[in-house]
Amino acid sequence: MPEQPPEPHRPRPPLLRPDPARARLFVQTWSPGDRRGRQLLALNDLVVGAYTHFLPGEFKRDDRTMPCFRELRTCSHCGLVKNRRWKGFLGAQLEGGKKPVILEVTEAAWEECEDLRRLDGQLRGWAWSASREKDGRRSRMILRKMLTLHAAPKLPCVDVLSVLSRMWLCDRAELVALTGTDEGAGGWGDPSSTESRHANGATDLPPAQSEQPAPKGEWQRLRAAQGGVRRDRGH
Ligand SMILES: [Zn+2]
Repeated sequence: MPEQPPEPHRPRPPLLRPDPARARLFVQTWSPGDRRGRQLLALNDLVVGAYTHFLPGEFKRDDRTMPCFRELRTCSHCGLVKNRRWKGFLGAQLEGGKKPVILEVTEAAWEECEDLRRLDGQLRGWAWSASREKDGRRSRMILRKMLTLHAAPKLPCVDVLSVLSRMWLCDRAELVALTGTDEGAGGWGDPSSTESRHANGATDLPPAQSEQPAPKGEWQRLRAAQGGVRRDRGH
């Protein structure tokens, strides 16, 4: 079979072209992995809580976390595994991150972080540090609120339930029923949200607040303020 000569100036395959609308659908879950941890800004007001099952796969990459539907209907996983763990999910922006993530909050971190529980329902804009007691994800997770200063996030909130429903292969409506919240509806990760609706971000904030400086400047202010507090220098 004669070989075809290579085509000059071959166009770039369409799959490699970034599609902003699709890119907005992918939001990854995140949790700290070491003692140093990261700083983050809450993008959502509420921590969505759900009981989950850990389903170990044949290989580590097949391990899965699935929701427990016991409160709603027969849960097919309850018969398979005994473990059932509460997890909290919060739309957040990691320091220096351009895309939002969903912070996974362990039950212990939720119980130990009084600030998080007290502010739950109005979390957007509060800065937190998330780390582990020791290096490694098995170690206890530590969440701390950074000062009382809150920044105006540039990114919109995250449609946590839409993201979780795709990850868990279930209906969003079912997760609304299970968690009793509709957190982040229409936000980043919602397939029906359009670029224009959220192009400027922070659509759920009043105009005065959306005109605040971008998070980058806020982080610098936070850092400076944090250093001042630690050294008791005052203002
Ligand atoms: Zn279950």
